[in-house]
Amino acid sequence: MTESSVPFLPFVRPEIDEETIRGVADVLRSGWITTGPQNQAFEKALSEYCGGRPVRTFNSGTATLEIGLRIAGVGAGDEVITTPASWVATSNVIIEVGATPVFVDIDPKTRNIDLDLMEKAITPRTKAIIPVFLSGLPVDMDRLYAIARAHKLRVIEDAAQAFGSTWKGERIGKLGDIVSFSFHANKNLTSIEGGALVLNNEEEAVLAQKYRLQGIVRTGFDGMDCELLGGKYNLTDVAARVGLGQLPHIERFRAQRHALARAYFAGFEGGVAVRLGMGLPLADFENSNWHMFLVTLPLARLSIGRAGFMEQLKERGIGSGVHYPAIHLFSLYRARGFREGMFPHAEHYGASTVTLPLFTQMTEGDVERVCRAVNEICQQYGQ
Ligand SMILES: *Cc1c(COP(=O)(O)O)cnc(C)c1O
Repeated sequence: MTESSVPFLPFVRPEIDEETIRGVADVLRSGWITTGPQNQAFEKALSEYCGGRPVRTFNSGTATLEIGLRIAGVGAGDEVITTPASWVATSNVIIEVGATPVFVDIDPKTRNIDLDLMEKAITPRTKAIIPVFLSGLPVDMDRLYAIARAHKLRVIEDAAQAFGSTWKGERIGKLGDIVSFSFHANKNLTSIEGGALVLNNEEEAVLAQKYRLQGIVRTGFDGMDCELLGGKYNLTDVAARVGLGQLPHIERFRAQRHALARAYFAGFEGGVAVRLGMGLPLADFENSNWHMFLVTLPLARLSIGRAGFMEQLKERGIGSGVHYPAIHLFSLYRARGFREGMFPHAEHYGASTVTLPLFTQMTEGDVERVCRAVNEICQQYGQ
């Protein structure tokens, strides 16, 4: 088989089983297609997964972050500390609730927020922290919560990528303050679009419900009041049915992703890419769910840039992505005074990172093919 006849390998692809597809058809035929019994079942199953904590579903992992901040009482005049190495949603929601995003640099080994720098960035105006578990790798949760407790700060965990990750054997979502998951199509557990908040008590869960649907509270057959300014963030039952169908597979998803990540480490070992200085992710097989396999290109030693590298991968039938350019260098953030040089590790990471294919229906043979292609491109354009 010639390389060109090999099917294109995307960098991500969701796995939806036939039972789920039939289940979705049943929901569509049932007459109840928006938020209803499937959502109740999904919230119940997610709550069980998170050790019995209250869980409320939403229509995105952006809505969950924003509502998480509102439930924590974050608003105008407050500072929220986060990382510039994330999807821009993480910090956009801080601006959305009227607060000020305060970035601190990443630890280049984990690519997650540097907790030493985070502690130094705390001021009397700091109200909350949004740590991001990039590619499913949690931060040091003991340290994070020790700092949060010492300074009386709320934590909204951006665990969008960390469904199925653990900390010292305990599931992310089971511990901690407010936890935000995303079920976007690319995430380890998907409901096409969607998200969930794991909360501390029923009071927060009731607040979450109000923010989720126009601040409305119903009583009896006809009673209705609007108690606060909520939005329209509820999840459809079609989406909830997709999410429910993913849950039984989550441990297998994690195991398969671990095996594929291990194959990447083996495939790159001693190769030209690593010799030129390609950066590999932290080899964590304890805590991470291996949501993505993120490398940094040795751009100083390549005669092509990242776009050229990605084009070369595409010519070899391999998809790739970029997760993520440093947030503070986007126009919206430059307009707020952020500049190059402020967070050098996040900037270097953001300018050189490439996401290689990693999804459950890939084979270790596919991983070998990607490693071969990466080494071949580095061989050809390395200097
Ligand atoms: C996906 C993601 C989000 C946003 O989730 P959506 O469901 O796409 O709104 C937020 N933060 C991180 C780190 C993400 O990966």
